[in-house]
Amino acid sequence: MSKYIFVTGGVVSSLGKGIASASIGKLLETRGLKVTSLKCDPYLNVDPGTMNPYQHGEVYVTDDGAETDLDLGHYERFTNAHFTKDNNITAGKIYYSVITKERRGDYLGKTVQIIPHITDEIKGCIKKVAREQDVDVVIVEIGGTVGDIESLPFLEAIRQLRWEMGEHYAINIHVTLLPYIKSCGEQKTKPTQHSVGTLREIGIQPDILLCRTEKPILQEQREKIALFCNVDVESVIEAADAKSIYEVPSNLKKEHLDTLILKKLNIKTPEKDLKAWEDFVVKRLRHPKHEVNIAVVGKYIQLPDAYKSIYEALIHGGIANDAKVNIIKIDSENLEKGKADKAFKGIQGLLVPGGFGSRGIEGKIKAIKYAREKNVPFFGICLGMQLATVEFARHVCGMKTANSTEFDKNTKDPVISLLAEQHQVTTMGATMRLGAYPCHLEKDTFSFAAYKKEDISERHRHRFEFNNDYRDVLTSKGLLISGVNPQRDLVEVIEVKGHRWFVGCQFHPEFQSKPDKAHPLFRDFIAAALKT
Ligand code: GLN
Repeated sequence: MSKYIFVTGGVVSSLGKGIASASIGKLLETRGLKVTSLKCDPYLNVDPGTMNPYQHGEVYVTDDGAETDLDLGHYERFTNAHFTKDNNITAGKIYYSVITKERRGDYLGKTVQIIPHITDEIKGCIKKVAREQDVDVVIVEIGGTVGDIESLPFLEAIRQLRWEMGEHYAINIHVTLLPYIKSCGEQKTKPTQHSVGTLREIGIQPDILLCRTEKPILQEQREKIALFCNVDVESVIEAADAKSIYEVPSNLKKEHLDTLILKKLNIKTPEKDLKAWEDFVVKRLRHPKHEVNIAVVGKYIQLPDAYKSIYEALIHGGIANDAKVNIIKIDSENLEKGKADKAFKGIQGLLVPGGFGSRGIEGKIKAIKYAREKNVPFFGICLGMQLATVEFARHVCGMKTANSTEFDKNTKDPVISLLAEQHQVTTMGATMRLGAYPCHLEKDTFSFAAYKKEDISERHRHRFEFNNDYRDVLTSKGLLISGVNPQRDLVEVIEVKGHRWFVGCQFHPEFQSKPDKAHPLFRDFIAAALKT
């Protein structure tokens, strides 16, 4: 029977619950357990797929095509767990399902209520993951902060589950903040006491407190927190600010968090250190031999979460090459007015990420033209690949007004156009080409050199696609089609012949990159940039 760890957050948002949950997964996997994670989001959207990146950050896509919370990205990067649409539930998804059942008449005349119907639905979704993914431990992270109205049904559901499961089968870990007040030189425990108090009011007693803090916690503070929050002193864990998120598992290990969890869940496994991870990931992050400057040209660059997996994958590419990656974020809209030469001074590689809508498009095209003409390594992802095709059509093939029909419906040269099945689509939610599709690579290309195999599988999230009517004219001028979806003959990867490194892919390779196993395209992109 799977055991459960419920992770909640208190005091403020952005405490790093996702990284804490992912790190717990890493620690337990290291101890030989099979884990999976589940994120519960209290908002009413059915999934984050329709949300603006400013609201939500990146949308992470699973192999089975679910558009999910970016925390699933953290879980996949830290562990070997593999997720499906079941690993992210939202209040919207739960209510949608309950209301659909009600309309079908499944509740046989009963009054449908938050308790028990919504809470039962939540419990059912959590148990389904445990049952179907056949793991030792399910880590369930509840989004939001304790005290929010929205998250109450989720908290009630985990309270009931804990009660049903009994001792040693489920524990609660509460991530909280110990603010350091400079003027009195003290770390304050009161917000934590209040937040745990709020949890206890709804019947949840945390087993472990993960205390986010700038400074080490003094023993007397640990004792005070333990006394007032009703936990053992050893269960007050310091979760200090880390230089890199990839150091968090080691920091928590130093606090013996893995052993503590295993004790509370009554699981016996041999002690195991994190040496492999520390040697490969942490040491290289701390003491890299090289350094490289990579520009990311996007329209959401003010928001660190909007291109989360891209930034992480660049760091992984750096680790693989023993290099520190300096990410220079360039606003594509500003670039439209400015000079490319000036903006890209000292840049050794240029990446254009995915995106939607016309704002900043011409700035991205300007960046791609610069990279192609100046022989600077270029990596275009999804929209970045589509715009690399537009740029090539305009400036190499002389189709001056070439465009994607996303930005100009009536363009004379629609080198990127809507996928056939998208013409019938009338609703926005979960209707893109989503999830993993196979792709066949041509030998003698940058892509094949990176993957070292002909058949790959990568995740997609888009409505538009390379227009095959333009294949001949573009390739006759030196565009190389290096990857194609074999079933539908869709162009998935383009390259520019003779360039130092120029790859555009319709899929999102960043979702499959890990710190100890960089995605091959990111690894080779950074390697090429290092030689610039
Ligand atoms: N807007 C483009 C499309 O829908 C690209 C999408 C993306 O970059 N994820 O095809």
